[in-house]
Amino acid sequence: MTRDARYDILFEPVTIGPVTAKNRFYQVPHCCGMGFNWPQTHAKMREVKAEGGWAVVCTEECMIHPTSDYSPEPQARLWDAYDVKCLALMNDAVHRHGALAGVELAHNGVGTQNLWTRMKPLGPSNRAGVIGVPTQTRAMDKADIREMRRWHRNAALRAKEADTDIVYVYAGHDSTVLMHFMQARRNHRTDEYGGSLENRVRLTREILEDTKEAVGDRCGIAIRLAVDELLGDDGITSDGEGREIVEMLAELPDLWDVNVADWANDSVTSRFGEEGIQESHIAFVKSVTTKPVVGVGWFTSPDTMVSQIKRGVVDMIGAARPSIADPFLPKKIEEGRVEEIRECIGCNICVSGQHTSTPMRCTQNPTMGDEWSRGWHPETIAAKGSDDGILVVGAGPAGLEAARALGQRGYRVALAEATTELGGRVTWESSLPGLSAWARVRDWRVGRIQDMANVEVYRDSHLTPENVLEFGFEHVLVATGAAWRKDGVGITNAATIPGADGDNVFTPEDVAAGTGITGPVIVFDDDNFYMGGVVAEKLRNDGHDVTLVTTGTCASAWTENTLEQHRIQERLLECGVEIVVSHNLKAIGDGDVDGACVYSERVRALKARSVVMVTSRQPNDSLYRVLADDNDKLEAAGIKSVQAIGDCAVPSIIAVAVHDGHRAAREMDSPPADPDLPFRREYIALADAV
Ligand code: ADP
Ligand code: SF4
Repeated sequence: MTRDARYDILFEPVTIGPVTAKNRFYQVPHCCGMGFNWPQTHAKMREVKAEGGWAVVCTEECMIHPTSDYSPEPQARLWDAYDVKCLALMNDAVHRHGALAGVELAHNGVGTQNLWTRMKPLGPSNRAGVIGVPTQTRAMDKADIREMRRWHRNAALRAKEADTDIVYVYAGHDSTVLMHFMQARRNHRTDEYGGSLENRVRLTREILEDTKEAVGDRCGIAIRLAVDELLGDDGITSDGEGREIVEMLAELPDLWDVNVADWANDSVTSRFGEEGIQESHIAFVKSVTTKPVVGVGWFTSPDTMVSQIKRGVVDMIGAARPSIADPFLPKKIEEGRVEEIRECIGCNICVSGQHTSTPMRCTQNPTMGDEWSRGWHPETIAAKGSDDGILVVGAGPAGLEAARALGQRGYRVALAEATTELGGRVTWESSLPGLSAWARVRDWRVGRIQDMANVEVYRDSHLTPENVLEFGFEHVLVATGAAWRKDGVGITNAATIPGADGDNVFTPEDVAAGTGITGPVIVFDDDNFYMGGVVAEKLRNDGHDVTLVTTGTCASAWTENTLEQHRIQERLLECGVEIVVSHNLKAIGDGDVDGACVYSERVRALKARSVVMVTSRQPNDSLYRVLADDNDKLEAAGIKSVQAIGDCAVPSIIAVAVHDGHRAAREMDSPPADPDLPFRREYIALADAV
């Protein structure tokens, strides 16, 4: 296939100081939960993106000195020669594919906690830290400022030693000391580093100059700046100080990487933001500098990318999440395979990896994070290991991904789905407020399967054990999913909540289906991820009086990890949902519900005609259990294996179901050598590694 000429502009080279990017695709720095704990996992993950056509591939935040210690969250580090080796691993890997490697040097100032290094957190002024630990930052004196400059310079030199092409001066996201110096609300100094904007920008200017002088002969120097904090007059704004900062430093860096702060605004989920959402904030930058400008905006459409460049918004298409969901996005555009792009759904499960200090996962890309540990590649997969046929029962995320990947391997695949619609949970969940982009999980897979002559899809085909035994295929993957429980059993309640068997009690599936719910409604959330909040929002939009009763201390508590909690609570309050936190349900009557404080057990009377239970899910595993329990029948039917996958095996998030479907496909006729350790570990060197 050949590339559409409309997209040629995306493949023009861009000069960044002394280095040149081969095209306009730029993987901006992004966290990945790998960092100092998993350097080989990290290097391979970035390499795959370089292979996929990104002209620039950057690290996540890279700590310049132990006074900026983000432990336990694993960020990159450049503290000594060991870290140079780790960074060189990535750089060499990225260079193998003709891409440039960038490093985002960072000192987190008031955002650090230094739990491991126990060094004193530093900031422009004596202030509480912003990370929520009971510690403060010390106002840097002149000696500290000199040290900060020296640390940054040394880190830049180490980056150069590791053969880095682009070195960042990082002043974005409200999380770096340079940003903190620039913010009037955090900088209360009275010396030449405080007061006027020029003074507050001084340290950034000095560090930019230091970095240029130290490594600018060989490395492009990038600045990452949040030009708007979306705080109005309380913060930096793109029509105020944000613009002035860019004007002051316009030609100093070799590249401007501009965004909005904080991270929750920059990586806004699809529930709360759209493609290109940052344009109105960053569009001015190109009119102020002649240097190339990179911006992000959840870009997955090549037409939007071309439009951004032609209209002079940016010079390079910045991407974090779109490059995670599809590391081969540039290649697919280049080779005229646009319909094959696996578009990011904007769910921020990847972000949760950083917050849980584990290598990130991706809902759309099951190979993400397993490139090194399992040797998985997002585009290639081993050819089939036999001529066996595989029956996949259930076309939710797990079944669709298994069928797709098995089809790619060349197996004969039959995918049977009980209903007339494919997609399972993503189909009904994507009808809930703000979740329409989640249908991409289904659509990408259905699109790929449609092109495969060896994959047969049977809709409206509810399979019984007898149907499966008669089918005549050698392997069976049971991907029949899970259903929300009505009985209230979950994290908090081990037994049925009295009254939960009434016909005024419903599940999220009932809400999506519009089943006769009458208000006022209580949504009882003991799951504490997105479902309780989104169901409450939908019911409120439908005109009901809604109370969200949650066992958590806030609405949708786990969504802190996807950067959404604040927005969810705000939206629920704005649309008129009453939120009752830290409460369990004790009994459900006809019109009256007893809530109970999870701490004191104090009972609170609540009014509700209907209750929606969002507690936990029950696997739909009866088909699997009947089959798996009767070896004789399986043998007689010529069935060699039966496996439950996805929610049918263990109800979990969509990303886990997709990963499980993918794993089952990879391991068909090719089980891991050591089933007790089915992946490679990274070992910590026991001796001095330097
Ligand atoms: P997962 O997240 O594990 O993929 P889902 O619940 O999203 O699970 O999807 C499961 C799918 O399986 C649903 O579309 C459901 O209609 C289908 N299904 C359930 N039982 C059967 C069955 N016996 N035969 C065929 N399809 C089934
Ligand atoms: Fe996009 Fe979700 Fe994957 Fe992150 S986890 S890259 S938001 S699809």
